[in-house]
Amino acid sequence: MRRSRHYLVTGGAGFVGSHAVAALLDRGDEVVVLDSLRTGHRGAVLPGARLVVGDLDDEVLVGALLAERRWDAVLHFAALSLVGESMREPYRYIAANVGSGVRLIAACVAHGVRRFVLSSTAALFGNAGDAPIDEDAPIDPGSPYGESKAMLERTLLWAERVHGLHSAALRYFNAAGADPAGRLGEDHVPETHLIPLVIDAALGRRPALSVFGTDYATPDGTCIRDYVHVTDLAEAHLRVLDLLDAGSVRYNLGNGRGHSVREVIGAVERVTGRRVPWHAAPRRAGDPPVLVAAAWRIMRETGWQPRFADLDAIVATALAWREGHPEGYRGVDGSIIPTGGAPRSRRGSRSTRG
Ligand code: UDP
Repeated sequence: MRRSRHYLVTGGAGFVGSHAVAALLDRGDEVVVLDSLRTGHRGAVLPGARLVVGDLDDEVLVGALLAERRWDAVLHFAALSLVGESMREPYRYIAANVGSGVRLIAACVAHGVRRFVLSSTAALFGNAGDAPIDEDAPIDPGSPYGESKAMLERTLLWAERVHGLHSAALRYFNAAGADPAGRLGEDHVPETHLIPLVIDAALGRRPALSVFGTDYATPDGTCIRDYVHVTDLAEAHLRVLDLLDAGSVRYNLGNGRGHSVREVIGAVERVTGRRVPWHAAPRRAGDPPVLVAAAWRIMRETGWQPRFADLDAIVATALAWREGHPEGYRGVDGSIIPTGGAPRSRRGSRSTRG
């Protein structure tokens, strides 16, 4: 029988992190989540995992967790993660993501951790053109968010050269959808991501969607992204963890198919059977016109294949979560607030999406 493995997961209460934790638990591994809960949710950490509420800046806490046992790997999801916000607050993004990430990498090396997985991003590729982007494309971030992840990828190269730390950098394109078993979903406060916003507009829970830019050089004038199901991303983590003994890897993760903002609106209209109210709005700073992954390398080297490659299937799981959890994790994360009760108050904006 396979030995159960032990993983420390930062940001495991966030969107991608919580789905990766679920995948680890589902295969019988033991997981400790370190999350500040500034943007993550207690209810997003499934009962099989141990949640430690704390900050990555707390070096004593991080050191104590790393010293607790011999970890099979550390998975690092916790980060500020909004492209648009990073264009307004570049220094905060770079200082927070690079500072906390470098300290964590150093602490891992000091405590004998041999394997590290970094949540990275398609935002490494700011001006890649229209063609699907593979791992040989030049790294040229279009935003401070992307820059912060590029710096961490570079740091990991040095951690390997100098200290032998093996790492995976997984560049997620647009993480979307929700756990098909209905346990987890997407809940950002405030929500800025396209698919949940379009669904809420369709359900009449929000006013009309603002489409950021309708004059891009794309067939319908709106930005094109590669939406990849969060459960498929989680599965990719399992596959790379099993490879890390052999060395370090960098993978682009997407379906290899781009969908414009208007196509996403069309998919939500098909899946919900409702019209989505929307209006044209100015471009959002930092948004490249097209980001589509060429994910052949991870497919070839690990056998990874997306199970939810179809946009309507991705939207359907996101819709099921929104319909089943109209208040998101509120009410399932221990802070039960009756419908119509006080709005959730959140400070800071550390996010755990990749
Ligand atoms: N977008 C939009 N209106 C919104 C939110 C997003 O038009 O209210 C667009 C955004 O400009 C981008 C795409 O939808 O082209 C995906 O944005 P999202 O924030 O979901 O992900 P990102 O690509 O920034 O990671």
